[in-house]
Amino acid sequence: MKIEKELTHPIHPCHKLRLEYTETPYNCDGCKEAGIGYKYKCHQCAFTLHKACAIAAPRTTHPFYQKCEFKLYYHPPGKCKRVCDACRTYVHGFVYHCDSCDFDLHPCCANLPQVLDDGKRDLYLCSKLSSSCHGCGGTGLGWSYRSQCGAYNLHLSCVKEMLVESWLAVYLNVDKNRVRQMVTSIPRLKGSLQNRPVVRGSVGKYGQMAGAAARAVVSAVLGDPTAMVAAVVSGIVSK
Ligand SMILES: [Zn+2]
Ligand SMILES: [Zn+2]
Ligand SMILES: [Zn+2]
Ligand SMILES: [Zn+2]
Ligand SMILES: [Zn+2]
Repeated sequence: MKIEKELTHPIHPCHKLRLEYTETPYNCDGCKEAGIGYKYKCHQCAFTLHKACAIAAPRTTHPFYQKCEFKLYYHPPGKCKRVCDACRTYVHGFVYHCDSCDFDLHPCCANLPQVLDDGKRDLYLCSKLSSSCHGCGGTGLGWSYRSQCGAYNLHLSCVKEMLVESWLAVYLNVDKNRVRQMVTSIPRLKGSLQNRPVVRGSVGKYGQMAGAAARAVVSAVLGDPTAMVAAVVSGIVSK
Protein backbone atom coordinates (compact mmCIF):
# COMPACT_ATOMS: atom_id res chain seq x y z
CA MET A 1 0.00 0.00 0.00
CA LYS A 2 1.25 3.46 -0.91
CA ILE A 3 1.75 5.79 2.06
CA GLU A 4 0.81 9.42 1.42
CA LYS A 5 3.29 12.03 2.67
CA GLU A 6 0.46 14.55 3.15
CA LEU A 7 -3.29 14.26 3.52
CA THR A 8 -6.34 16.16 4.74
CA HIS A 9 -8.73 14.51 7.17
CA PRO A 10 -12.52 15.17 7.46
CA ILE A 11 -12.28 15.95 11.20
CA HIS A 12 -9.50 18.49 10.59
CA PRO A 13 -10.38 19.91 7.17
CA CYS A 14 -8.61 23.30 7.28
CA HIS A 15 -5.00 22.14 7.43
CA LYS A 16 -2.92 19.47 5.77
CA LEU A 17 -1.44 16.67 7.88
CA ARG A 18 2.12 15.57 7.23
CA LEU A 19 3.61 12.10 7.78
CA GLU A 20 6.22 12.09 10.54
CA TYR A 21 8.15 9.58 12.62
CA THR A 22 8.67 9.95 16.36
CA GLU A 23 10.11 7.87 19.17
CA THR A 24 8.50 10.07 21.80
CA PRO A 25 4.97 8.91 22.67
CA TYR A 26 2.14 11.21 21.60
CA ASN A 27 -1.62 11.30 22.02
CA CYS A 28 -3.78 10.62 18.95
CA ASP A 29 -6.57 13.18 18.43
CA GLY A 30 -8.63 10.51 16.64
CA CYS A 31 -8.86 7.51 18.97
CA LYS A 32 -7.36 9.42 21.98
CA GLU A 33 -4.91 6.56 22.64
CA ALA A 34 -1.13 6.81 22.97
CA GLY A 35 1.04 6.32 19.92
CA ILE A 36 4.62 6.07 18.74
CA GLY A 37 6.34 5.78 15.35
CA TYR A 38 4.58 6.99 12.20
CA LYS A 39 1.87 9.63 12.65
CA TYR A 40 0.15 12.38 10.66
CA LYS A 41 0.61 15.80 12.22
CA CYS A 42 -0.68 19.31 11.50
CA HIS A 43 2.11 21.87 11.69
CA GLN A 44 -0.18 24.79 12.36
CA CYS A 45 -2.00 23.50 15.42
CA ALA A 46 -0.33 20.23 16.54
CA PHE A 47 -3.37 18.07 15.70
CA THR A 48 -2.04 14.49 15.45
CA LEU A 49 -3.38 11.14 14.24
CA HIS A 50 -2.00 7.60 14.31
CA LYS A 51 -1.25 6.44 10.80
CA ALA A 52 -3.97 3.76 11.24
CA CYS A 53 -6.52 6.39 12.38
CA ALA A 54 -5.64 8.85 9.59
CA ILE A 55 -6.09 6.33 6.79
CA ALA A 56 -8.85 4.20 8.37
CA ALA A 57 -11.30 2.99 5.71
CA PRO A 58 -15.03 3.70 6.33
CA ARG A 59 -15.67 -0.05 6.60
CA THR A 60 -13.50 -3.00 7.52
CA THR A 61 -13.58 -6.68 8.43
CA HIS A 62 -11.50 -8.76 10.83
CA PRO A 63 -10.50 -12.45 10.71
CA PHE A 64 -11.49 -12.90 14.41
CA TYR A 65 -15.07 -11.82 13.65
CA GLN A 66 -15.97 -13.62 10.43
CA LYS A 67 -19.61 -12.48 10.41
CA CYS A 68 -19.05 -8.84 11.30
CA GLU A 69 -18.91 -5.74 9.20
CA PHE A 70 -17.25 -2.91 11.10
CA LYS A 71 -18.16 0.71 10.42
CA LEU A 72 -15.85 3.58 11.36
CA TYR A 73 -17.31 6.10 13.82
CA TYR A 74 -15.51 9.31 14.80
CA HIS A 75 -17.35 9.26 18.15
CA PRO A 76 -18.39 6.10 20.03
CA PRO A 77 -22.01 5.30 19.01
CA GLY A 78 -24.80 5.02 21.60
CA LYS A 79 -25.07 6.29 25.16
CA CYS A 80 -23.20 3.55 27.07
CA LYS A 81 -19.45 3.57 27.56
CA ARG A 82 -17.86 1.29 24.97
CA VAL A 83 -14.86 -0.99 25.50
CA CYS A 84 -12.49 -2.10 22.75
CA ASP A 85 -12.79 -5.89 22.47
CA ALA A 86 -9.10 -6.18 21.59
CA CYS A 87 -7.30 -4.09 24.24
CA ARG A 88 -10.16 -3.88 26.80
CA THR A 89 -9.82 -0.13 27.34
CA TYR A 90 -12.61 2.44 27.04
CA VAL A 91 -13.24 3.91 23.63
CA HIS A 92 -13.05 7.73 23.66
CA GLY A 93 -12.82 8.55 19.95
CA PHE A 94 -12.43 6.78 16.60
CA VAL A 95 -13.83 3.25 16.72
CA TYR A 96 -14.80 0.43 14.38
CA HIS A 97 -18.21 -0.79 15.52
CA CYS A 98 -20.35 -3.73 14.35
CA ASP A 99 -23.99 -2.64 14.55
CA SER A 100 -25.38 -6.18 14.72
CA CYS A 101 -23.06 -7.70 17.37
CA ASP A 102 -21.93 -4.60 19.28
CA PHE A 103 -18.23 -5.38 18.92
CA ASP A 104 -15.81 -2.44 19.08
CA LEU A 105 -12.22 -2.09 17.89
CA HIS A 106 -9.86 0.88 17.95
CA PRO A 107 -8.51 1.46 14.41
CA CYS A 108 -5.00 0.59 15.67
CA CYS A 109 -6.30 -2.60 17.28
CA ALA A 110 -8.18 -3.56 14.10
CA ASN A 111 -4.88 -3.16 12.23
CA LEU A 112 -2.64 -5.16 14.57
CA PRO A 113 -0.51 -7.60 12.55
CA GLN A 114 -1.43 -11.28 12.93
CA VAL A 115 2.28 -12.06 13.32
CA LEU A 116 4.97 -9.93 14.96
CA ASP A 117 8.63 -10.72 14.42
CA ASP A 118 10.76 -9.54 17.33
CA GLY A 119 13.99 -10.67 15.67
CA LYS A 120 14.22 -13.93 17.63
CA ARG A 121 10.75 -15.44 17.41
CA ASP A 122 7.31 -14.91 15.94
CA LEU A 123 4.50 -13.70 18.17
CA TYR A 124 0.96 -14.54 17.06
CA LEU A 125 -2.12 -12.43 17.69
CA CYS A 126 -4.86 -14.49 19.35
CA SER A 127 -8.34 -13.62 20.54
CA LYS A 128 -8.15 -15.96 23.57
CA LEU A 129 -5.25 -17.01 25.78
CA SER A 130 -4.84 -20.67 26.70
CA SER A 131 -1.86 -20.23 29.03
CA SER A 132 -1.34 -17.49 31.59
CA CYS A 133 -0.30 -13.95 30.65
CA HIS A 134 3.02 -12.53 31.90
CA GLY A 135 1.29 -9.32 32.85
CA CYS A 136 -1.70 -10.40 34.96
CA GLY A 137 -1.01 -14.11 35.42
CA GLY A 138 -4.48 -14.90 34.08
CA THR A 139 -6.21 -15.94 30.87
CA GLY A 140 -8.91 -13.25 30.97
CA LEU A 141 -10.72 -11.43 28.17
CA GLY A 142 -9.08 -9.50 25.37
CA TRP A 143 -6.55 -10.19 22.65
CA SER A 144 -2.96 -11.13 23.25
CA TYR A 145 0.29 -11.97 21.53
CA ARG A 146 1.83 -15.38 22.17
CA SER A 147 4.86 -17.24 20.90
CA GLN A 148 4.48 -20.66 19.34
CA CYS A 149 6.61 -22.23 22.10
CA GLY A 150 4.13 -20.85 24.63
CA ALA A 151 6.87 -19.13 26.66
CA TYR A 152 5.64 -15.61 25.87
CA ASN A 153 2.05 -14.54 26.44
CA LEU A 154 0.90 -10.99 26.87
CA HIS A 155 -2.56 -9.39 26.80
CA LEU A 156 -2.78 -6.11 24.89
CA SER A 157 -4.52 -4.70 27.98
CA CYS A 158 -1.57 -5.73 30.16
CA VAL A 159 0.84 -4.07 27.73
CA LYS A 160 -1.10 -0.81 28.11
CA GLU A 161 -0.96 -1.15 31.92
CA MET A 162 2.71 -1.98 31.66
CA LEU A 163 3.40 1.21 29.70
CA VAL A 164 1.98 3.30 32.50
CA GLU A 165 4.02 1.38 35.06
CA SER A 166 7.24 1.51 33.08
CA TRP A 167 6.88 5.23 32.45
CA LEU A 168 6.23 5.65 36.14
CA ALA A 169 9.29 3.57 37.00
CA VAL A 170 11.48 5.60 34.68
CA TYR A 171 9.97 8.76 36.10
CA LEU A 172 10.85 7.71 39.63
CA ASN A 173 14.32 6.45 38.91
CA VAL A 174 15.99 7.99 35.91
CA ASP A 175 15.26 10.79 33.52
CA LYS A 176 12.56 12.85 35.19
CA ASN A 177 12.26 15.66 32.68
CA ARG A 178 11.98 13.43 29.65
CA VAL A 179 9.31 11.24 31.21
CA ARG A 180 7.38 14.17 32.64
CA GLN A 181 7.20 15.59 29.14
CA MET A 182 6.05 12.21 27.78
CA VAL A 183 3.45 11.63 30.45
CA THR A 184 1.89 15.09 30.40
CA SER A 185 1.53 14.99 26.63
CA ILE A 186 -0.69 11.90 26.97
CA PRO A 187 -3.81 12.91 28.92
CA ARG A 188 -5.10 9.38 29.37
CA LEU A 189 -1.81 8.26 30.91
CA LYS A 190 -1.63 11.36 33.06
CA GLY A 191 -5.02 10.44 34.50
CA SER A 192 -4.07 6.86 35.18
CA LEU A 193 -0.87 7.90 36.92
CA GLN A 194 -2.75 10.21 39.24
CA ASN A 195 -5.23 7.47 40.12
CA ARG A 196 -2.57 4.96 41.04
CA PRO A 197 -0.76 4.33 44.27
CA VAL A 198 3.00 4.60 43.80
CA VAL A 199 4.48 1.13 44.15
CA ARG A 200 8.23 0.93 43.70
CA GLY A 201 9.52 -2.18 41.97
CA SER A 202 6.12 -3.30 40.74
CA VAL A 203 7.54 -3.62 37.24
CA GLY A 204 9.81 -6.48 38.28
CA LYS A 205 7.22 -9.10 37.38
CA TYR A 206 7.82 -8.46 33.69
CA GLY A 207 11.49 -9.32 34.05
CA GLN A 208 10.86 -12.83 32.76
CA MET A 209 9.47 -11.47 29.50
CA ALA A 210 12.30 -11.25 26.97
CA GLY A 211 13.16 -7.65 26.10
CA ALA A 212 12.79 -8.13 22.36
CA ALA A 213 9.36 -9.75 22.68
CA ALA A 214 8.09 -7.01 24.99
CA ARG A 215 9.43 -4.30 22.68
CA ALA A 216 7.72 -5.81 19.63
CA VAL A 217 4.35 -6.03 21.37
CA VAL A 218 4.62 -2.53 22.86
CA SER A 219 5.34 -0.89 19.51
CA ALA A 220 2.44 -2.77 17.89
CA VAL A 221 0.07 -1.65 20.65
CA LEU A 222 1.23 1.94 20.16
CA GLY A 223 0.18 1.78 16.52
CA ASP A 224 3.46 1.12 14.71
CA PRO A 225 5.03 -2.34 14.91
CA THR A 226 8.20 -1.05 13.24
CA ALA A 227 8.94 1.72 15.76
CA MET A 228 11.98 1.54 18.01
CA VAL A 229 10.68 1.80 21.53
CA ALA A 230 13.77 1.04 23.59
CA ALA A 231 13.31 4.14 25.73
CA VAL A 232 9.66 3.41 26.38
CA VAL A 233 10.23 -0.12 27.67
CA SER A 234 13.54 0.42 29.42
CA GLY A 235 11.76 0.02 32.74
CA ILE A 236 10.35 -3.43 32.03
CA VAL A 237 12.95 -5.50 30.22
CA SER A 238 15.25 -7.85 32.05
CA LYS A 239 18.75 -6.51 32.53
ZN1 LIG B 1 -5.50 6.91 16.91
ZN1 LIG C 1 -4.34 22.17 12.08
ZN1 LIG D 1 -20.88 -8.33 14.13
ZN1 LIG E 1 -8.18 -1.23 21.42
ZN1 LIG F 1 -2.71 -10.18 31.08
